[in-house]
Amino acid sequence: MAEVGGRLAKQDIYERDKRHVWHAFAPHSEQNPWVVDAADGVYVTDLEGRRYLDAMSGLWCVNAGYGHERLARAAYEQMRRMPYYPLSAAHTPAALLADRLCQWLGGDYRIFFNNSGSEANETAFKLARQYHAQTGQPGRYKVISRYRAYHGSTLGALAATGQQQRKYLYEPLAPGFLHIPAPDLYRRPDGMDPLAYGRSCAEQLEQVIVWEGPETVAAFILEPIITGGGVIVPPPNYLDEVAAVCRRYGVLLIVDEVICGFGRTGKNFAFQHNAVQPDIVTMAKGITSAYVPLSATAVRQDLYDAFKDPADPYGYFRQVNTFGGHPVSCAVALENLALMEELELVPRAARMGDVLAGELDRLYRHPNVGDVRVRGLLAGVELVQDRDTKAPLAADPVKRVIAACKARGLIVGRNGDTVAGFNNVITLAPPLIVQEPELAFIAQTLDEALEEVL
Ligand code: PLP
Repeated sequence: MAEVGGRLAKQDIYERDKRHVWHAFAPHSEQNPWVVDAADGVYVTDLEGRRYLDAMSGLWCVNAGYGHERLARAAYEQMRRMPYYPLSAAHTPAALLADRLCQWLGGDYRIFFNNSGSEANETAFKLARQYHAQTGQPGRYKVISRYRAYHGSTLGALAATGQQQRKYLYEPLAPGFLHIPAPDLYRRPDGMDPLAYGRSCAEQLEQVIVWEGPETVAAFILEPIITGGGVIVPPPNYLDEVAAVCRRYGVLLIVDEVICGFGRTGKNFAFQHNAVQPDIVTMAKGITSAYVPLSATAVRQDLYDAFKDPADPYGYFRQVNTFGGHPVSCAVALENLALMEELELVPRAARMGDVLAGELDRLYRHPNVGDVRVRGLLAGVELVQDRDTKAPLAADPVKRVIAACKARGLIVGRNGDTVAGFNNVITLAPPLIVQEPELAFIAQTLDEALEEVL
């Protein structure tokens, strides 16, 4: 854009943005917007020519990093060959990608493609309900999720979201969604063994299923690690335990890998840290490293079989999205996965996660740092008023820490304005190509910002 408009057009860009662009999830402001204009590797450059290390990969999504020529070329070549055809028919990039995704998933799945994580989850809910209807249990419609989780912005995905601050202005949302508390190891009962705590959290799920009546519950959805709600890493046995509860009551397990997937936590998908094969896996963001929009809902092959040759002539899955599984997006996703495999970015994320954890250790010298959680290249720094009470630090100083990072050329995130009283976690999710000196810079800058503000 800067090249198109030239530097003289800068003010013009600001004015047009201020007049016409409605920014996502941001307060309305009369100040000049922060316009990002170029990106390369792990860095973004704004219209003023300032360069920042993007330790959030955009919105937790540019997993392979910015500026890969070959991803641009994959899009260009697919556009020339066949820019579009809907997936009510078939096309080559979708067939190849679905097969590749099954390899990444380590299981036999049937893939439904969409454009966004929200749609992937909506699709999962619809498929879960229809699956039960087609297998003789039409009363199973409820979906259980956890408080503090985010599952998307559309009315169903928002209903599954457990962050009231995002929801209350848009209610009523889709009915039939229930919430249970998410495990919070940092605030578990004093002295409780983590595994016992994991079991007790799974028992809460079991109780709710029993009280609601298992014959009314379609699915349980969770992120393996709650990301946007504060990088909440559960006890190591939690996923295994809740999966066992779901199995016991015929409740489908939907794992939302929209952020955790594609190497973020040091595995292809974060559920692979456990011995669990989910019924449904939803994914987006890192599937194309965000170069183009794409999402997918992977459904276990034997569930798909229930949709074959239904007695009801309308009993097949009656959903189509014009752009879902767009050939250009599928071609870019294929190239992105090939790139990630060649650069070995997934095992690299696990290794660099250890480096990041070591670097972030220095933050504990600040009395307001309560807990630092790292899994692969996903991290959360929880800020508290004091370590004894663990009372969350107020939103305002947390925002000032983030601003102090930005002033030093570092973009970090925050679980902001979503969970009342718990907007106190600084989040990190750098591109998986990040180098050790850059991880040192992230920790050093956070250290300085905490020193300055707190
Ligand atoms: N699920 C999770 C865990 C997410 O973090 C997000 C978005 O951040 C979504 C779903 C929704 O994805 P999208 O913004 O692509 O609709």
